[in-house]
Amino acid sequence: MILVSSCLLGNKVKYNGEANDNPLLKRYGRYMTAICPETLGGLPIPRPAAEIQSGDGHDVLAGKAEVKNAMGAVVTEEFRGGAEKVLEFVQKHRIQVAILKANSPSCGNKMIYDGHFCGKKIEGQGVTAALLMQNGVQVYSENDLDEDTLQRLIAMYKEE
Ligand code: SF4
Repeated sequence: MILVSSCLLGNKVKYNGEANDNPLLKRYGRYMTAICPETLGGLPIPRPAAEIQSGDGHDVLAGKAEVKNAMGAVVTEEFRGGAEKVLEFVQKHRIQVAILKANSPSCGNKMIYDGHFCGKKIEGQGVTAALLMQNGVQVYSENDLDEDTLQRLIAMYKEE
């Protein structure tokens, strides 16, 4: 089984109530299981945008950084809780590969926003991406995959 960020498959779970439609992933969506860590953590749709402050997902998991939304509310526990539920699901189903939305404070695998809500990105992982990586899951973003690579992953990891 391959895990995928729910918003990439067209589900309207983003903070602004929209999706991040990805046509390539949608074409192969039948081989994937969609999940949204932020809604799993109890956050509503829509919700204010949130960013990690002074760190990345690894720092949040280590208790060294927090997540705040654009209204100034701390939502660290919701982000951690969602990530832990995703990890529980991954371990239960022995999932080895995830394709997560680039740049998200939960799902980003290489870059995240810098915490100032100004559109600037920094290197680092979102909270869920960090937790999955720490537990041996291969985490890709939609930007890492061309169709050949995706087909190869599906051939290796899809459920028969
Ligand atoms: Fe998409 Fe991940 Fe954000 Fe949910 S938490 S809307 S799956 S990027």
